[in-house]
Amino acid sequence: MRAQFPVCCRRSAVVFAVFLAVAAALSAAGWAAPPPPQSPQQAAPPAAAQKSFVIVGAGVADGSGSPLVHENVRVIGDRIARVGSFSPDPGEEVVHADGLVLAPGFIDTHNHSGPGLETDRLAESQISQGLTTLLLGQDGSSPWPIGEWLEKFRQDPAALNVMMLVGHATVRRLVMGDDFRRPARPEEVAQMTALVEQGMREGAVGLSSGLEYEVGSYSTTEEVVAMARVAGSYGGFYISHIRDEADRSFQAMHELLQIGRQGGLPVQNTHIKLGTVGVWYRAAEVAAMYDAARHAGQDVTADCYPYDAWHSNFKVLVPDKKYDDPASVSKAIEDVGGPQNLLITDFKPHPEYEGHTLEEAAKTRGITPTQLLIEIIRDGDGGVIGHTMTEQDMRVFYAQPWVMVSSDGGIGMKHPRGAGTYPRVLGRLVRQWHWLTLPEAIRRMTSLPAWRLKLRDRGLVKEGMVADLTLFNPQTVIDRSTFQEPQKLSEGIERVYVSGVLVWDHDHATGAKPGKVLPK
Ligand SMILES: [Zn+2]
Repeated sequence: MRAQFPVCCRRSAVVFAVFLAVAAALSAAGWAAPPPPQSPQQAAPPAAAQKSFVIVGAGVADGSGSPLVHENVRVIGDRIARVGSFSPDPGEEVVHADGLVLAPGFIDTHNHSGPGLETDRLAESQISQGLTTLLLGQDGSSPWPIGEWLEKFRQDPAALNVMMLVGHATVRRLVMGDDFRRPARPEEVAQMTALVEQGMREGAVGLSSGLEYEVGSYSTTEEVVAMARVAGSYGGFYISHIRDEADRSFQAMHELLQIGRQGGLPVQNTHIKLGTVGVWYRAAEVAAMYDAARHAGQDVTADCYPYDAWHSNFKVLVPDKKYDDPASVSKAIEDVGGPQNLLITDFKPHPEYEGHTLEEAAKTRGITPTQLLIEIIRDGDGGVIGHTMTEQDMRVFYAQPWVMVSSDGGIGMKHPRGAGTYPRVLGRLVRQWHWLTLPEAIRRMTSLPAWRLKLRDRGLVKEGMVADLTLFNPQTVIDRSTFQEPQKLSEGIERVYVSGVLVWDHDHATGAKPGKVLPK
């Protein structure tokens, strides 16, 4: 990488010059003018006619990380109107919340509910976790055109708020088609940057990549830098499933930092993990590396899901892509600690493998795990849950103040994180394991992601903020989803409000769909 540095710089400088020229031309044509700001408040009825209610008796975790305070919270319309020691007005609706905790609605910076929301606008598995805002378009993959997709959710909203990223691989496929197994040529990179610009102008809040996956893995760092720079110029950030989450994790993390520095934008190492034996127990080194970058002035954050197992396809296990080479495939299995750590979740040609480990399925067939893995990838690949991270590393990650909670889950997911992430953090990491205090865990789910996403009126229980709120029982809140029953809903999230409207009530969705497309 270092040897190529001057070349990369020159190339991206040329590309950027092309971009500037294109942008200037568009601007001259009047296309680059920002769309007129929308103000949803204007459409709302006047304050006097707005519904108001007061939540009384809850301990308020305001999202800042400060200790709980016992204060009443009044909501008028879609806003928090008052926080303090006051009595409800005569006749005003009162929500009694003794023994409960009131927090800002949870914000997930890595969510895969995009496809699920198409047919399930209520998103029960998400709102039942206390989630009120989802960032979609992850791992390099987004719908296209983004503006059209977002418009559908303005016309026919979901129960909760949605935000979108431009997917690096999506843009790469649009430009390169099926001929993507090579670095992009400069003129192709210029086309990609123009598409990133289009996505940002249509409402995306940043660029996502999945550099470990098939399409993204062939891109050079400078290609990603060129695209990231455009996202950054629109105020966006770069969130990446980095190029390697296994033996070469550290190189991949360095690349992330390089993309942030050269692209001039904030970066986030999403679902941060150390996924192979060779890098286990090195989370403190990762933290030290990112801390050093932060101290040097770089804006770098991470998000982490609270499980020691990932969910992906089998191909990601073989980083050298020698999918039919027994030596490479055997090493891949060894690197994750053995075939007993790999649970098959989907394999179309042999659905009977699903729910069994690679070890079990191979034994049933009377072949070696290596032979079976080669066969699975050859026959179209499948879904796999890899129990390949350590709890110790996860704990170190969660000890970092710049690591937020994310799910990497979503509607219909076959990993328990899809329905259980946020209650799991509150019930297990906070209440049972004491990894985090409750106010700090809430901060990692609310104001920290809100800050990252520049949602200036969300993420805090404070006068004037939007009333996205979650009310839960700190004694009982817990995830119920498991690897066997990943869809099981969580318990203990009592009420969830989006823009002041109740969307989740104890054990059911209310049917209300007040969700907005954010940030505008
Ligand atoms: Zn990912």
